[in-house]
Amino acid sequence: MEKIRLAIQKSGRLSEKSLELIKECGVSYASGTGKLLANCYNFPMEILFLRDDDIPGYVEDGVADIGIVGENVLVESNKKVKIIDTLGFGRCRLSIAVARTMTYNDIQDLNGKSIATSYPTILGKFLKEKGVKAEIHEISGSVEIAPGIGLAEGICDLVSTGSTLLSNGLKEVETIFNSEAVLISHKGISAEKQMTIDKLLFRLNSVKKAKNTKYILLNAPNASIAEIIDILPGINSPTVQPLAKVGWSSLHSVLNADDFWEKIEALKKAGAEGILVMPIENLIA
Ligand code: ATP
Ligand code: ZN
Repeated sequence: MEKIRLAIQKSGRLSEKSLELIKECGVSYASGTGKLLANCYNFPMEILFLRDDDIPGYVEDGVADIGIVGENVLVESNKKVKIIDTLGFGRCRLSIAVARTMTYNDIQDLNGKSIATSYPTILGKFLKEKGVKAEIHEISGSVEIAPGIGLAEGICDLVSTGSTLLSNGLKEVETIFNSEAVLISHKGISAEKQMTIDKLLFRLNSVKKAKNTKYILLNAPNASIAEIIDILPGINSPTVQPLAKVGWSSLHSVLNADDFWEKIEALKKAGAEGILVMPIENLIA
């Protein structure tokens, strides 16, 4: 299998989660601080550590075959790569915020205003679509202080909780774009490298499914089994085994993490006892 090169953020909000995901895929690598390139021991891959802004370009050029980057950075970069998976972490939104004291009814209130941002491409496109004429002031960091120091009237920046906006006297008025980390790939990947990428994607998929699923064990009177199976369809169908206690069975299945609590309540109502719920490391369905 041909070796591939994966680019991830060297240090920042996506670094830890990216490395965690690699480990969860069963891939171990030679770690060492300050390294730019790390080799993986048990998978034909090396990891290249970069600034996140450089990742789309490296993947477009094929210097890296695949990369993990925020969708926000990818879209802003305009680089030609393929998104091959969404990763469910690094969630944030790109929003427009203005001073809390400014009267804001709708987006037309931004006409004639100036907006500071590190995302001029995405912001420019958004304003154009809305027919708003505002001046875009491109700056590379500390965007949230721009209105306070009189540099601009509004900002367009990433928000997760909104607490940074609040502490800078700003209010969020428009959401442009919801973002999460994505796995991107070079467009001209060779068939040999594609096989390695597919192998990694298969593992990623199993990790993702496992995170969204829990393993459940419970005891129930035999009369309740049919009702419980309705609540817990499992991957195919649950395993039911007789208990030493006459008239009772033990049931094993999987459960979707999204509606976890509703299911637990329904199971208790149906007569389930001794409910045990455990995390799953991998799920190959
Ligand atoms: P680098 O030094 O690599 O250029 P950076 O300062 O540009 O780092 P980070 O702040 O580490 O970038 O953010 C990396 C990515 O994390 C963002 O592009 C975005 O996709 C995601 N992210 C998630 N939540 C937030 C948030 N609240 N603020 C900023 N970025 C966030
Ligand atoms: Zn960056």
